[in-house]
Amino acid sequence: MFVGVIKETYPNEKRVALIPSEVQKLGRMGVEVLVERGAGEGAGFSDEEYSQAGAKVLDREEVFSKAEVILKVRDLMADQENFLREIERYSGKVLIGFLEPFAVGDILDRVNSLNLTAFAMELIPRTTRAQSMDALSSMATVAGYKAVLIAANMLPKMFPMLMTAAGTVLPARVFVVGAGVAGLQAIATAKRLGAVVQAYDIRPAAKEQVLSLGAKFVELGLESEQAEDKGGYARAMDEEFYRRQREMMTEVVSESDVVITTAMVPGKKAPVLVTEDMVKGMRPGSVIVDLAAERGGNCELTVPGEVVERYGVRIVGAVNLPSQVPYDASQMYSRNLFNFLSLLVKEGEFHISLEDEIVRDTLLFRNGELVNERIRELIS
Ligand code: NAD
Repeated sequence: MFVGVIKETYPNEKRVALIPSEVQKLGRMGVEVLVERGAGEGAGFSDEEYSQAGAKVLDREEVFSKAEVILKVRDLMADQENFLREIERYSGKVLIGFLEPFAVGDILDRVNSLNLTAFAMELIPRTTRAQSMDALSSMATVAGYKAVLIAANMLPKMFPMLMTAAGTVLPARVFVVGAGVAGLQAIATAKRLGAVVQAYDIRPAAKEQVLSLGAKFVELGLESEQAEDKGGYARAMDEEFYRRQREMMTEVVSESDVVITTAMVPGKKAPVLVTEDMVKGMRPGSVIVDLAAERGGNCELTVPGEVVERYGVRIVGAVNLPSQVPYDASQMYSRNLFNFLSLLVKEGEFHISLEDEIVRDTLLFRNGELVNERIRELIS
């Protein structure tokens, strides 16, 4: 059985789906890996390393034509322009990657005629058994870390408190909104750099995690069990709720040097939690890093992919931060993919077992048909 690793085509995407150490592990499972020339370059893995690990390094066209399974970081709706450009190459293949499954409604007809089978890594369930395959968590961890470094770099202050002969330098004050995977890593990173960190999340369970990292949990009195669905994710709240949340957060935001926003609701536009007025109330030189930029942004002034300056405050519309730490992001993603593939490869052959909850939940298309119940419900 041949598995193909294709070079990413999404603008500025430097990650690669599989790194040489996982090529070796797949080899031991009877899987031959074909890698497109230069696929790992952006992440720091050379063609030679892939060859030494037992992969065949080939041209893109050869990989597509020989491989039964195609591994990507971004594909389908997550790199729609390129997918449509190369659509014929996907005919009869099994595709695994981040595919932005919530948006597939737009191209159903095209996929139907392709006979494509696809697994979306975004749909890996958040269960204990699936933890080692949870690529969303891996990437959120990298994004949370990088967001703090970006803020630290831009801020005209230092993060730690310093007692020097020239007097005391006060620590930077960081406020993290949304204490999920990315938020918790942002808190941990800001703490390591010596900032005074506060955080907020509408899920009451987040409080304990925030406190365990040594940060302060901002009590707004809005957190409730109803804010959490049975999967542990935040629910979408009504506009009145968000209005009250903004009102109650105004003071903390104005006192913070750095605000990192990560608040998201699966499948929905990100809620606006920092308004223009709130930005106006911040000290000039302050920095907002909006990790929800790709989903519309938690700050009203966010422009995805850009840094805008308003009222002396810089607002970073952070997109695809994991690609800015491509070596480790690829390593984590590659391990997640390998663990997932272990469920699909039996004695060197590809096998889809729908009895397995992880396989069933992640399967998006089977032979061109949209089979994922969750996505069918959402787009119907
Ligand atoms: P996410 O990226 O969807 O959202 C980020 C955070 O924003 C979440 O913590 C969410 O509660 C918060 N949020 C949403 N609306 C908000 C608002 N109005 N104000 C403040 N915060 C708001 O979430 P995620 O990081 O992917 O994690 C979500 C949940 O999944 C958590 O409960 C986490 O523990 C759980 N999880 C479980 C596993 C596992 O069991 N294997 C793995 C990863 C995550």
